[in-house]
Formats: sequence, structure tokens, C-alpha cells
Amino acid sequence: MQLSKAFPVPSEHLVERNAKTVQNYLEKFYQLPSLQYQSARKNSTSMIAEKLKEMQRFFGLNVTGKPNKETLEMMEKPRCGVPDSGDFMLTPGKPKWKRTDLTYRILNTVQLSKAQVERAVEDAFRVWSKASPLTFTRVLQGEADIMIAFARRDHGDNSPFDGPNGILAHAFQPGPGIGGDAHFDADETWTQSSTNYNLFLVAAHEFGHSLGLSHSSDPGALMYPNYAFREPSTYSLPQDDINGIQAIYGPSHDPIQPTGPSTPRACDPRLTFSAATTLRGEILFFTDKYFWRRHPQLRQVELNFISLFWPALPSGIQAAYEDLDRDLVFLFKGRQYWALSGYDIQQGYPRDISNYGFPHTIQAIDAAVSYAGKTYFFVNDQFWRYDNQRQSMEPGYPQEVSRVFPGLESRIDAVFLQDYFFLFFSGPRYYAFNLLARRVTRVARSNLWLNCR
Ligand SMILES: [Zn+2]
Ligand SMILES: [Zn+2]
Repeated sequence: MQLSKAFPVPSEHLVERNAKTVQNYLEKFYQLPSLQYQSARKNSTSMIAEKLKEMQRFFGLNVTGKPNKETLEMMEKPRCGVPDSGDFMLTPGKPKWKRTDLTYRILNTVQLSKAQVERAVEDAFRVWSKASPLTFTRVLQGEADIMIAFARRDHGDNSPFDGPNGILAHAFQPGPGIGGDAHFDADETWTQSSTNYNLFLVAAHEFGHSLGLSHSSDPGALMYPNYAFREPSTYSLPQDDINGIQAIYGPSHDPIQPTGPSTPRACDPRLTFSAATTLRGEILFFTDKYFWRRHPQLRQVELNFISLFWPALPSGIQAAYEDLDRDLVFLFKGRQYWALSGYDIQQGYPRDISNYGFPHTIQAIDAAVSYAGKTYFFVNDQFWRYDNQRQSMEPGYPQEVSRVFPGLESRIDAVFLQDYFFLFFSGPRYYAFNLLARRVTRVARSNLWLNCR
């Protein structure tokens, strides 16, 4: 994660390096004319600004035309080598295969065994065959529709790889010859696990290109350009990609059409949060396998996969709080909890909530928040209070939520602390509870926090 720089870099170097990052990225993915083919004068800053805006629009960033921090962070993420705009080295238009019975051939392997690569590739094709009328048959020799190879650096197709990280793979649109072929950067570490980079996930993405799909700006889609880990054993093709493949090849022959997970939309009026917490000034809102990060000053909001930041964490986090004194954030699901320092999971977790003194009858925490040395745990219509210093549950708890927090009637989904307020979330609404006045001072839509007006 590029969240903090360990060493301060002299600012001139930084500016120079950033300009290079921007130039390279826009050349590769947004058709900015290459520096070497034009005069310095023509390479106007206005053109770079236009391309930057296009890139920022694609990724749902603030459209400023300036290489600000969040834009640079986005550019440093590992991703697919296929551009986000325009056509990839082939004829324009929307090429597709004319047959549905396609063949593929694996030319070589690196790191993983032959059997492991075959398995990952087979599973990746199954993702697409389940959602469409397409079938994929492996051939051992001759020219297949989709030729699969591992290669490093310059490998003869005018699209060199770049060593570890950065560009992970690329693939070509349907067509004869190189059309449909998929290449994987042999300098990456390919895995079958959550460590970077899972071959099955990258292959499934690349085969989407082999079938004629381009990049999607839906951050939950398989065809989103950036790499994101998701659990392969339970992987199900997102709805955005199902719609994409079926728009080209029609529905699957299966009488029951597959459906896939849809990415939560910030402005969906039914949107609810299952947990919320501050983390060093940011606010995190959890829902299913995602979380939104809200930047404190810029108030920008960014949707992420939980698994992208913390591959070891499950989806569906149910409660979270920040312990400001210890600079730790705690996340809860069922009877398990994890501690984070910044964005790093601490060793020795998950632990069981019996460590807090919860009885065995408590199966899950709905919401948690820490304030003035005490941590409040909400379970159904009751709450418990834990003394952070003494590390024990206070006597006299649980108590009724509605008695101590008048104005809160229904079950709490999530809560966090801001200034002297507990911000409670219940269904699609939030309640601002003033801790000094001891009353609710505002009730409004939850997704105001995600900038939905
Ligand atoms: Zn791609
Ligand atoms: Zn290639």
C-alpha cells in the first residue's frame, strides 16, 4: 500500500518523478502521444491536463486535470496493460469471435507448476463459459484461438512488460493471429493464494479482453483495470461483467441465467453500513466485501475491496472502533476480532471476544465506539461498556440503548466518534448524538457521508 512514504524525498526529485509517472501512465493507457515522437513545445500541458481529466473521470476521482496525490496513488497501483481508452493495437470497432466453441493453448509456465497453471486457466475460462454460450477447449499443439504465454520485458508485440509490479498482463481483442492471445508478465510472482498476484484472477480478467470486453470503471467489476484480490474458491462473476459478455454473445444456454454481485452504489437510497470507524483521521464505512474511505479535509470518498487492503480479513465486518490512545483500530465479525495499526493487521489475531469479557451467549457485536477511555459495544437493543485502562467490562452492563441514548429506537448497525458526537447508523439513516447535550441533534440520510446530496 502506498499510504505513507517511509523516507522524505527531496521535492525537486519528487516533482520530476511524478511528471514522469504521469507521462508514462497517460501514454500507456490514455493515448497521450509519446514524448519521443513530438517536439517538447507540442507536448503541451493542456493536453496532459485533458488526458488527466479523462483518467480521473474513469476512476471516479475529482476531475481536476492536476496530478494530485490521489491521482498519483491510483497510477501506482498494479494493473492490466490494456489501455482504458481507445482500441488496443487492433482494428477499431467491437470485434467478437464468430464461433462460440473456442480453443486455447498454454505455451509455457513460470514459477507455478504446469498443473497449477492449467488449473488456474481452466477456472478462469469457466468464469466466462458459465455466463455465456461460449465453450473453451484446450489444445496441445498448433494455432489455438487464444494462445497463452508468460513473457518478460520486450516480447515482440510492441507492448513490453515492465518487470515486477506495474503492468501484470495484457491480452488482445478477438481476431486472427495475435488476436485473442493473452500474455502474462513472467517477472511477477504468480500464486494460487492471496499473495500477489493470483494467476486465476488476472487470467479471468485478461480472457475478458480475449473475448472482446474492454475495461469497466465499475470498481467491483472483473474488467476494472486495477488488480484486486478476491477469494478464488467462492468467486462469482460480477453483474457488470455478466452484462458485458452477454451483450456480445447473448445469454448462456443454461435455463437459469447466472446473476452476480453488484457493486454497492454510494447514492443507493437502500444502502446501509455494517460497521464504521475513524482511522487516523479518515472515516471508514463497511458494507459487504467493500469499504468506503472518506478523506477528512478533501471529503473525497473512495470505494475499496476489503480484500485489497487486508487479504486476511473476511467480508461482512460487523463492528469497528478506533482506540486513539493505543493508535489501533479493532474490527469485529462474529466472535472474532482483529487489530490494525494504520493499515497493517497486528500479529496474534483474530482473537475471541471473550477477551473483552463477553459471555458465550453473545454471537456478534452490532457496533462499537471508543470515547474518553471507555469502549461502547452495541448488541441488539443493549450496550456494554468496557474500561480500556483496566481492560475489563464495567459492572452494571448491559444497559438499554434507548434509556442512555434517548432518540435511538431501532438497532444500531454502525457508530463512530467525531468531535463530541456519536454518529449512529441504523438502516438508511444516521443519528448525530451530542455527548454533552446527551440528545440526538440531527437525523439524516446515511449516504450524505458519501457525498450524496
Ligand atoms: Zn485489462
Ligand atoms: Zn504481449
